[in-house]
Amino acid sequence: MNGGNLQEQLFAWFQWFHRHPEPSGAEHETTARIREILRGIGITVIDTPLQTGLVARVDGKSEGPVVALRCDIDALPIEEHSGLSYSSGNAGYMHACGHDFHLTAMLGAAALLDRRREALKGTVKLVFQSAEETGVGAKQVLETGVLDDVREIFGLHVDDSRAPGVFSVSAGPVSAAVGGFRAVIRGKGGHASVPHECIDPVSAAGQLIVAAQTIVSRSTDPFDKVVVSITHVQAGNTWNVIPQEALLEGTIRTLGTDQFKTVAERLGRICGGVDRISGAVTEYIWQCGAPSVDNDAALADFAAKTAESLGLTVMPAIPNMGGEDFALYQQRIPGVFFTVGVGSPQTTHHPGFRANPSPLGAAAGFLAELGIRSLERTA
Ligand SMILES: [Zn+2]
Ligand SMILES: [Zn+2]
Repeated sequence: MNGGNLQEQLFAWFQWFHRHPEPSGAEHETTARIREILRGIGITVIDTPLQTGLVARVDGKSEGPVVALRCDIDALPIEEHSGLSYSSGNAGYMHACGHDFHLTAMLGAAALLDRRREALKGTVKLVFQSAEETGVGAKQVLETGVLDDVREIFGLHVDDSRAPGVFSVSAGPVSAAVGGFRAVIRGKGGHASVPHECIDPVSAAGQLIVAAQTIVSRSTDPFDKVVVSITHVQAGNTWNVIPQEALLEGTIRTLGTDQFKTVAERLGRICGGVDRISGAVTEYIWQCGAPSVDNDAALADFAAKTAESLGLTVMPAIPNMGGEDFALYQQRIPGVFFTVGVGSPQTTHHPGFRANPSPLGAAAGFLAELGIRSLERTA
């Protein structure tokens, strides 16, 4: 395959994957197709207990360090309305987060690395990760131990807001530490005509909802980026009964992992305060799922310079408050997560999302080059 042919091949692969979106953790057809394409190129898939997704390896001619490139492969439970000729053929599912773009670019990188084995000063592992959207895929890959020998790791995501082919990379946090909370407010139910004989969990829930808004406005440094959203409220089932309980659920997001605990604990103290006023007893639990994707400064600089040397357009990253489980790799391995603009008319996770496939070749070339030069750095 020469450059032109590779781009055509990438478009064909991309359209196939776009037409075949599968849910997180059940990417069976996707995994089989990736396996088939890698076999066609002549690339070894490593034996792991992973049910879906896989890890492959490209070995150079000489022994050396190991680095990794990572993409995700799962789709979303969204009915597609993009108008694309190669729209989803699996009703109710759609590649609305561009993971089809990521995995196709990785297959392109695999083909390019295979052609340049002579130049490889070690091994590049290629991680095709399942279940990113549900936040469990990276953990499963790490638990297999297949990345224990990896010295540096690189991952990519599409950026709907930037023009096709604009790459973005920055040092420091670029995605949020994302978690959730649940507060069960236990009061004392009774007849709605005798509120003084009850402890009303609904009015307590109302106070809690309002007071929670002061976390960002009054308790957070204005220069910090924090989200506290209550997204689920449930209490009672009729008009003349004060219920026993009210339930609140929501999300906490902080750019940078350190602040997460502070914000979560602040909400816990507010629960305690509302309990004292209302007489209710609130059971409050929180958990942090993925930490922030936090790019290693030296590696971010290395990635930006590598992109520039390939003639690519590179800009500083636009941090976002979404979550991304690439962060879990970075807790063990120095790594960089970069984005590639795909100029979509709609955001990711929208039924009208359309990734422009024109930067597939550039993304594949950049990934391959990162692998090659990362081995040179760490050799
Ligand atoms: Zn997503
Ligand atoms: Zn995504």
